Amino acid sequence: MNYSMEPIGVVHSCYAEKFGIPRQPGLVKSATGMIEMLPPCNREELFKELDGFSHIWIQFLFHEAISDGWRPTVRPPWLGGQKRVGLFASRTPHRPNFLGLSVVRFLGMRKEKDTLYLDISELDLLDGTPVLDIKPYVPYSDKLEESTSGFVQFSENLIVVSFTSEAESACLDYQQRRGRDLKTLIREVLEQDPRPASQRGKHREYGMLLWEMNVRWLAEDSVFTVLSVTKKSSGGMKSTPNNRFTFMF
Ligand code: SAM
Repeated sequence: MNYSMEPIGVVHSCYAEKFGIPRQPGLVKSATGMIEMLPPCNREELFKELDGFSHIWIQFLFHEAISDGWRPTVRPPWLGGQKRVGLFASRTPHRPNFLGLSVVRFLGMRKEKDTLYLDISELDLLDGTPVLDIKPYVPYSDKLEESTSGFVQFSENLIVVSFTSEAESACLDYQQRRGRDLKTLIREVLEQDPRPASQRGKHREYGMLLWEMNVRWLAEDSVFTVLSVTKKSSGGMKSTPNNRFTFMF
């Protein structure tokens, strides 16, 4: 059976590149974005009564993992990048159908000109991610009190983040211009320690893109100093995907 799917929407996210995105949703509270709904799913009637739900499930395509392919086993960051587990025991983006599933906070729906947007927060999605389906999160059945989670265990956040005065005033300036609390976003993202497991313990400088801003920071063990926050030279929000995705059964 050959089944073809088209995105119903596209994510516009504070995460302009993969590096820096938290490993799951809900970890960075100040992460915000929106789903731009595409025809024929951009009619308000498709969302009637959704405003009563605080969270939604998003099924999406890991579109920027497709070109790398997938392997039967992976080394999850939870195990320090040392041990291999089966890909179906992991949440790796590199999967046979490259399908992702995230529960995010639903802030509301709005129409701007003729475009319908769903505002969301606490996401773990790259800017430009194609959305395949949306469903309400229903705690009465989705919240599982007696669940276990194998090698994935909660660990205390030990990263300390500070800002140079130059970086701090750039965040303040950005907040005044764009109305977004960039400083909190940077702090929460860095507290999740986005470095690959192999680089922990090393002293080095890193860069990441949040919205259209280039953020540089210095990692010294578990102390991170944000050195600069500057505007990216060009680019902006990713355009709407127009590709079709074909699945064989
Ligand atoms: N919650 C989802 C799940 O379990 O299916 C995603 C978990 S996955 C471990 C999260 C990582 O996927 C992020 O850290 C980011 O690097 C990557 N990611 C997010 N959106 C992506 C996209 N559109 N293409 C490729 N990788 C993406």
